[in-house]
Amino acid sequence: MSKRVAVVTGASSGIGAATARALAADGWHVVVGARRLERLQALAEEIGGTALALDVTDQASVDAFCASVESCDLLVNNAGGAVGTTSLADADLDEWQWMYDVNVLGTVRLTKALLPALRSSGDGLVVNIGSIAAREPYRGGAGYNAAKHSIAALTRVLRLELLGEPIRVTEIDPGLVETEFSIVRFRGDKDKADKVYERMTPLTAEDIAETIRWTASLPAHVNIDSMLVMPRDQGAAHDVFRREE
Ligand code: NAP
Repeated sequence: MSKRVAVVTGASSGIGAATARALAADGWHVVVGARRLERLQALAEEIGGTALALDVTDQASVDAFCASVESCDLLVNNAGGAVGTTSLADADLDEWQWMYDVNVLGTVRLTKALLPALRSSGDGLVVNIGSIAAREPYRGGAGYNAAKHSIAALTRVLRLELLGEPIRVTEIDPGLVETEFSIVRFRGDKDKADKVYERMTPLTAEDIAETIRWTASLPAHVNIDSMLVMPRDQGAAHDVFRREE
């Protein structure tokens, strides 16, 4: 029997790369997409998957990517992230645009393009990666909050619109996970990024990958609608327990 096929976007680092590894270890053939093709090729070689260049903000790139995906049983819409922490009063609209394009429109583009394949698989699953920012607004988070709240909204809508079809829809909302996320958010400022995780134990990318692997391993009649996963040291978006020095 041929392997079931999973598509993971944003698989060149962090949660996406860990998810690709976890799914491959569970018997999936994984198609990995992102902009940094060299990293993807190394990953695909390691896990016996397929690496394809993908910019989720570019319709032509999404079209070319999806044209190379012959079948799809699982789509993990993971590509995304945040830039900046400015207040609404000082909002940088380019940052807002970037966050909306990659997190929201990227998810819409991939879902729309791969729905026919998910449908014809007879047992499809879409996993959208939201965030605690999809549930809880926080100071300095408006642009990212708006984008991830949109993910929560469109995930609900998709679930309702696909009711009665053999496609499950799941939203997984991580809290603090140590990946390249904060380096991107602070535009390469490693010191600022490290501060986010100092004197506390964050989640690893593998922790979130395991929730995705588990969700996808459940029988077809079980739909995990949403899951909020935080480190023990985190009680809310900005309520973090930090150990004494
Ligand atoms: P990460 O290490 O920065 O990974 C982000 C991934 O997204 C990279 O593989 C990046 O690849 C890809 N990406 C960015 N722009 C893209 C584009 N235009 N087209 C295709 N791929 C693109 O961060 P991460 O923590 O693993 O983030 C994964 C997801 O988890 C994101 O949706 C993020 O918002 C969410 N999340 C993260 C945290 C956290 O604390 N880390 C918490 C909640 C939610 P390329 O640059 O190679 O394209």
